[in-house]
Amino acid sequence: MGLPLRPELRGLTPYGAPQLDVAVRLNVNENPYAPPQDVVDAIASAVRKAAEGLNRYPDRNFIGLRTDLAAYLAHESGAGFLRFENIWAANGSNEVMLHLHQAFGGPDRTVLTFTPTYSMYPEYARDTATTYATLARRDDFTIPIEEASAEIVSRRPSLVLLASPNNPTGTSLSLDDVAALCEAAEAVKDGCVVVVDEAYAEFRHRGVSSALTLLPDIPHLAVARTMSKAFALAGGRLGYLAASPEIVEALRLVRLPYHLSAVTQAVARAALAHASDLQAQVDAIRVERDATVEWLREEGYTVADTEANFALFGPIEDREKVFEDLKERGVLIRVTGPEGWLRVSIGTPEEMAQFRAALLEVTR
Ligand code: PMP
Repeated sequence: MGLPLRPELRGLTPYGAPQLDVAVRLNVNENPYAPPQDVVDAIASAVRKAAEGLNRYPDRNFIGLRTDLAAYLAHESGAGFLRFENIWAANGSNEVMLHLHQAFGGPDRTVLTFTPTYSMYPEYARDTATTYATLARRDDFTIPIEEASAEIVSRRPSLVLLASPNNPTGTSLSLDDVAALCEAAEAVKDGCVVVVDEAYAEFRHRGVSSALTLLPDIPHLAVARTMSKAFALAGGRLGYLAASPEIVEALRLVRLPYHLSAVTQAVARAALAHASDLQAQVDAIRVERDATVEWLREEGYTVADTEANFALFGPIEDREKVFEDLKERGVLIRVTGPEGWLRVSIGTPEEMAQFRAALLEVTR
């Protein structure tokens, strides 16, 4: 007798890009810089302190961490109106997104998003038995706002997911567009939460505002962030969200008790206390990103306008072959996005020099 695996899981493989031991890893949009030594020291001493109390369960409501996250967002995006009641967190923004689906999705409900977009979105829907609906972006990866608004009105989703900057394209949405989609969502009689997934927000160009600034006017808006990218803390697993206290209270209903370990809370708070030290790495990545885009365009590629720490480029006739040939040369990138495109995460200047040399070699 076989296992009673849910039919929708049969024959599937677990999500995840290859974790290979190659010299230049540019495939999962990690921060290429290890945390600086003073941050490493601060994290280590915070973990040591937390270890002394590990016989006890952690603070289930992680008020200290939520207060620190609110203060960070006030500083980073001018969202000084945020209090700890506006903040939620979990083990990576992946878990925050799952909580959103657990609370607001489910059977007989729909989540709507705009493709190509982050490849985990269909999985949150599948795992919560939420119907996954998509509308295609335009060729330049922008969202057709009028059509998208009409789709919201007609499909009546309970969740709308807007990745901005979007993965794998790097393109971002204007605040006017976010506001227009939120307005359409207001027409959904049973309610609709609009989620702006800002995992890559810190890499946006100067002068571009975060959707956080819309929160005071839009109670059904939620903005998700992560410490995996800008904070060089992908291994620490801390994602978070800012929204109305009503949305946060709903997420508290579906979280497992003590889902954020005392160690995770300590690590995140120590890193947050060093947010300004980490900004230098973010600045370096943005400079390298813009240089990479410029170089790829000079080489004749089309590159999506990116506000993130990666770039999607094409057209590439046989992208699987280019991917394999680069890997053979110790450079790992990602086969993702529409046919004919490849995504490269932004590494250090040395890593990007290796990427450029290898790409020239394999496409000559
Ligand atoms: N959202 C987007 C758009 C992402 O690209 C990622 C990571 N690749 C995540 C969320 C999840 O990141 P994490 O769980 O590490 O916070």
